[in-house]
Amino acid sequence: MKPHEGLYINGAWTPGASAETIEVVNPADEQVIGHVAAAGREDVDTAVRAARAALPGWAATPPAERAAKLTALRDALAARHEEIAETVTAELGAPLAFAKMVHAGLPIAVAGTYAELAATYAFEEKLGNSTVLHEPVGVVGAITPWNYPLHQIVAKVAPALAAGCTVVLKPAEDTPLVAQLFADAVHEAGVPAGVFNLVTGLGPVAGQALAEHPDVDLVSFTGSTAVGKQIGATAGSAIKRVALELGGKSANVILPSADLAKAVNVGVANVMSNSGQTCSAWTRMLVHTDQYDEAVQLAAAAAAKYVAGDPHDETSRLGPVVNAKQHARVRGYITRGIEEGARIVAGGPEAPHPTGYYVSPTIFADVRPEMTIAQEEIFGPVISMIRYEDEADALRIANGTVYGLAGAVWAGDKDEAVAFARRMDTGQVDINGGKFNPLAPFGGYKQSGVGRELGPHGLTEYLQTKSLQF
Ligand code: NAD
Repeated sequence: MKPHEGLYINGAWTPGASAETIEVVNPADEQVIGHVAAAGREDVDTAVRAARAALPGWAATPPAERAAKLTALRDALAARHEEIAETVTAELGAPLAFAKMVHAGLPIAVAGTYAELAATYAFEEKLGNSTVLHEPVGVVGAITPWNYPLHQIVAKVAPALAAGCTVVLKPAEDTPLVAQLFADAVHEAGVPAGVFNLVTGLGPVAGQALAEHPDVDLVSFTGSTAVGKQIGATAGSAIKRVALELGGKSANVILPSADLAKAVNVGVANVMSNSGQTCSAWTRMLVHTDQYDEAVQLAAAAAAKYVAGDPHDETSRLGPVVNAKQHARVRGYITRGIEEGARIVAGGPEAPHPTGYYVSPTIFADVRPEMTIAQEEIFGPVISMIRYEDEADALRIANGTVYGLAGAVWAGDKDEAVAFARRMDTGQVDINGGKFNPLAPFGGYKQSGVGRELGPHGLTEYLQTKSLQF
């Protein structure tokens, strides 16, 4: 796509207050593929004013009409399916087949769920002698990361619009082009001017200005725990609503009764897809000591199938990581794992190609739960295999990080897996592989975040409650 110049504010592409721009780089070949406007504090203020002015009209729009706009938005995204996939491949480096299925397919499905929910949600309920009204929170500041760039946008903007809120979006600086495509789709869907506004820009400039803006009622942030803590503190001091989707270090717990080969193979695929840049990825694989050596062999063989290659080639299964900083960071973690005594059985810190931000799919064996690579989010194609002695040990290891975003349990018997999952301190658990459900609430326990996204639970984040007594 050819990037738009300017920012999408009040229903039109508008020049930024300054001429500053951000370079967009293709991580597969390190070439600049475009420039977008870098919004400053003044631009963010203009966008928030537009969102505030549009709020009364949109909040008063009957839910069925909001639902119709969301259906049109879903259709406008679906019409851009190929262009979305190609754009995400170009700016994120996701393999094209994965980009088509997940990066384009998933947000279209999620937009569809909110078109339905806007029409069917009980925005009013009776409780004894009261009528309870679920009203929009107001102006939403949405700040999103690059890892699933369109999904993260739709997971915030669609429920906000369904609820009757207006939005200012600050997408990640690495992936602004798909955010511009989203703005085009919103425009085509006939969403009224000011209801959705897009300010591309740098995190510490445009992101921070949005998070600190006094006329933003709710800040919804997805990204690193470090920035999330800062945004939570800012929102807390202003008594402002905040939703935080942060990092993870999810455990893939393989109980002795499980189908070991299936659990290991699906576990490896779960981490390698999107080059490990998935906050819910099962990056710690927990295996019983009696099955550990076999599992390590299976995992190494599975990882070897993920040959890093050009994401534009439909047969590629592993693209690069998003940028030079992440490239250095991920390989730094691999070096740290070796230094702390873990054993590499696949991959390693050497870049597999001289150009492009590629990382070899890496499997570590002999990982102890206290090692850095078992505690910190790496955000790359790296799995830490940890051995456990018994179920109590597995549970202690699974729950033994500051995070609690997702996880998996495998067992021969579903009830056995569910009994284990109930004791995990985490927001989402896939049982024997699970199957993605766009209606299921997604979000973290512990330092993985505050609040839930997707489905009806995601919609309630954007509502506040008023009760009328009769
Ligand atoms: P980040 O937290 O720096 O960026 C996420 C978003 O926040 C971007 O839009 C960014 O511009 C914005 N931002 C940055 N600084 C800000 C500030 N001071 N105020 C307001 N907004 C700000 O994350 P990153 O640098 O893109 O990635 C670093 C790490 O974050 C990754 O390695 C990974 O561990 C984690 N991460 C997690 C997720 C997730 O879905 N949970 C997604 C991406 C990254």
